[in-house]
Amino acid sequence: MRIAITGISHETNTYCGGITTREDFYTYRGKDMLATAGQESDVGGAIDACIRWSKEIPLEIVPILYAGAQPSGVIQRQTYEDFKAEILSEMAATGPVDCCVLLLHGAGVVEGIADLEGDLAAAVRATLGDVPITASFDLHANLTQAMADQLNGIFVCQQYPHIDLHQRAAEAVAAALNMVQTKRRGICRVTSLPMLMPTTTTFEGIGQTMLQALLAAEENAGCINLSWCHGFPYTDVAHVGASVVASYYPEQAVAAQEAAKQFAANLWRRRQEFIPLSLSGEQAVALAAEQPQGPVVIHETSDNCGGGAPGDGTHLLRAMLEAKLGAAACFSFLVDAEVAGAAHQAGVGATLRVSLGGKTDDLHGDSLNIVAYVKALHDGRLIMQHMFRGAPINLGPMARLVVEDMDIVVASRRNQTFDQEPFLALGIDVMKYHYVALKSSNHFRAGFQHIAKAIITADTPGLNTHRLEVFPRQTTTRRLWPVDEQAQFN
Ligand SMILES: [Zn+2]
Repeated sequence: MRIAITGISHETNTYCGGITTREDFYTYRGKDMLATAGQESDVGGAIDACIRWSKEIPLEIVPILYAGAQPSGVIQRQTYEDFKAEILSEMAATGPVDCCVLLLHGAGVVEGIADLEGDLAAAVRATLGDVPITASFDLHANLTQAMADQLNGIFVCQQYPHIDLHQRAAEAVAAALNMVQTKRRGICRVTSLPMLMPTTTTFEGIGQTMLQALLAAEENAGCINLSWCHGFPYTDVAHVGASVVASYYPEQAVAAQEAAKQFAANLWRRRQEFIPLSLSGEQAVALAAEQPQGPVVIHETSDNCGGGAPGDGTHLLRAMLEAKLGAAACFSFLVDAEVAGAAHQAGVGATLRVSLGGKTDDLHGDSLNIVAYVKALHDGRLIMQHMFRGAPINLGPMARLVVEDMDIVVASRRNQTFDQEPFLALGIDVMKYHYVALKSSNHFRAGFQHIAKAIITADTPGLNTHRLEVFPRQTTTRRLWPVDEQAQFN
């Protein structure tokens, strides 16, 4: 049996300036994909699963191309067309496969193509014909029926932080192989809700409660899969929003569709519980000061590179400096290649006058003019320890600056703080601080929830603010909650 593995994964924030091009993507081609085995990512999980299955059944893995990028602006048309053409031509060149697994995000937007995944799935279907094609998706997918129509099974990441991407990809592999062996084909049906969900963790609160309800409903329905996409609200496309998707065999259709309907109605009924507290930087710092014990993690959710924001915002850092938190506080990290480069040039022990952050746009705050002591330097090459465990991450040259006794880490490449590594690399033990600041919406929880005495969200002005009403919507004609309280779901 031969199984093709391929995918393009991008979370497109259409409110970002700039366009996402070939240079922004990292790629694994052919046999290079096999090296991701063991990484807790979608591609690592799919390859791992194929290797495991190949010990039980005669299975040839046909790795084609995986292309992923940091969340950012709309993808350049030519970049997407080149990736797609490469996938299709490699598929044609490798000869017939028995099934295929697509590794997708679900919120990809290309110049002139609002639904990247729908377009790609249709092209792959046209090339492969009637073989089982299953797919794994990110929790933040804006799913469409156009995507689902081309697929025989949809497996959406369940957790936020996304600690289960590899498990869902493995399920997509298992389902595709099973459909080959049983000669059956799954069907996928999407129920879309007119609901924009602010970023919501599944590690506690309403997100966790609803995930448990979803898993119970799936078990009860006995179908291939029942998934819930939170959707990605920072995308101006007609199909933006939360959804529920059921994958089932024909004889499971009634139970699966009923389960999806009930769960969607339940989500809609409880929607007000998803509205989070929105605190300014100053309010977040004040609330952290009231906590009896540290470390208190303050996460600046609104300037999250993992949602397309620049990561060089200064709103929270300015509030911390003005509060004179000094040696009780550390922050890792702001993205500013210029400042990190200057620190590397000057060397450990130097004192610099720099303009830090606030260089990408006018939304994320003004640059901070500071005098900084260079305490430590690092090349920024780390291995992820919690979410994406085992995968490499390259933050570029990093520097630990000391400003008015506060430890501030600056990195060179856009990314979010997933775990404690960006602190530890520069010699910072977060357990010794009361205030631990970082930029991330929820993925950081995988590496901090177990040590934080409290977690406080700073919702400063930014491209990932919880205040969804600030984003103009030109492409959707639907009324969308919570921007429009008149929105209705039947
Ligand atoms: Zn996501």
